[in-house]
Amino acid sequence: MPHLPFPLESRLPDVGTTIFTTMSRLAQACGAINLSQGFPDFSAEDVLFERVSHWMRSGHNQYAPMAGVAALREAIAAKVGTLYGAGYDPEDEITVTAGATQALFTAVAALVHPGDEVIVFEPVYDSYVPAIQLQGGVVRRARLSAPDYRPDWDAVRQLVTPRTRMIMVNTPHNPTGSVWSAADLQALAELTRDTGIVVVADEVYEHIVFDGVRHESVARYPELAARSVIVSSFGKTFHVTGWKVGYVLAPRALMAEFRKVHQFNVFTVNTPVQLALADYMEEPSRYGGLAAFYQGKRDCFRAGLAGTAFEVLPCSGTYFQTVRYSAISSAPDTAFVDWLTREVGVAAIPLSAFFGDGRDEKVIRFCFAKRDETLQAAFERLRRFC
Ligand code: PMP
Ligand code: GLN
Repeated sequence: MPHLPFPLESRLPDVGTTIFTTMSRLAQACGAINLSQGFPDFSAEDVLFERVSHWMRSGHNQYAPMAGVAALREAIAAKVGTLYGAGYDPEDEITVTAGATQALFTAVAALVHPGDEVIVFEPVYDSYVPAIQLQGGVVRRARLSAPDYRPDWDAVRQLVTPRTRMIMVNTPHNPTGSVWSAADLQALAELTRDTGIVVVADEVYEHIVFDGVRHESVARYPELAARSVIVSSFGKTFHVTGWKVGYVLAPRALMAEFRKVHQFNVFTVNTPVQLALADYMEEPSRYGGLAAFYQGKRDCFRAGLAGTAFEVLPCSGTYFQTVRYSAISSAPDTAFVDWLTREVGVAAIPLSAFFGDGRDEKVIRFCFAKRDETLQAAFERLRRFC
């Protein structure tokens, strides 16, 4: 095609291609074992695929209701009622979305006015900041510091101003694998009390919390739930990241605003998959067993790195393990993962990608949502070079 015949001012001048796309592409080009982008390399259960096929073949292939199919919203309400003691009305407090990314983007678009301030915690999942900037919001960054990446509530308090419209939280946390405690949720409740601040809680790893610790969903805390939009994703829970189906919980006044935007940026999500997910959710062990499953993989991964010079940082949840590599190399983290992918044959994500200023703490992230053979092959390569 010819060049664009006019100068174009970018809405996101500082944004390139996401680190996940960049690293997965490089891994593929090099034939490296891809422990960068977060997705399982094993399959979901056949019965889930059978349900999709059943609903497709029985003629459920037209638009679902805008908020999602009723059976799925009811199944979600039942799950969060049982797990968190929360009463969300499927009619007007639950919406099915095209994954968590869309849910987060839509929540920000629906609730942030130009000039509003939004607090995020750095390292921050890569989609949050561009979503805020596209609405003309002003990003305020609270720091989570290695090695345990705990929030510093005194520092967060100092970021709150009369212009603060939203706080975006993520527990269990990507990329660090840290998990917030009940005390953190209480601190968040105190911080937002008597303010007009909306909490957006990204809980896509809600079922992947280790060592017998319970997931502190915002939904457990009525005071917080009353001002919160909670986001989750079936991709993480049922090993189907490519299906891009998630959901949002919010009190009806917030949900009404959410749906005003949702109806115009996706309208609705594909019908047979929603119906299949509703069937599949009837058996609670299908998400209840996830923590034990991934805890086994976490332990295997940490043990597998024992023969290397990586400093293995804490991991309390998610399917990500962070490591510090400063005993191996003094290269910037982006150069280190490039070398690791090309020369060692294992791809990872540099944590600097999650900092607005590109802060480099010599920490990288591996995804351990992989078959045991994949992990063993990665250990062999890593032990040889690292
Ligand atoms: N939030 C976090 C913290 C994530 O890790 C991810 C994806 N891994 C998402 C949101 C996006 O989820 P989805 O694929 O359902 O859009
Ligand atoms: N959330 C996934 C990760 O953290 C990636 C999703 C994506 O590629 N956008 O690796």
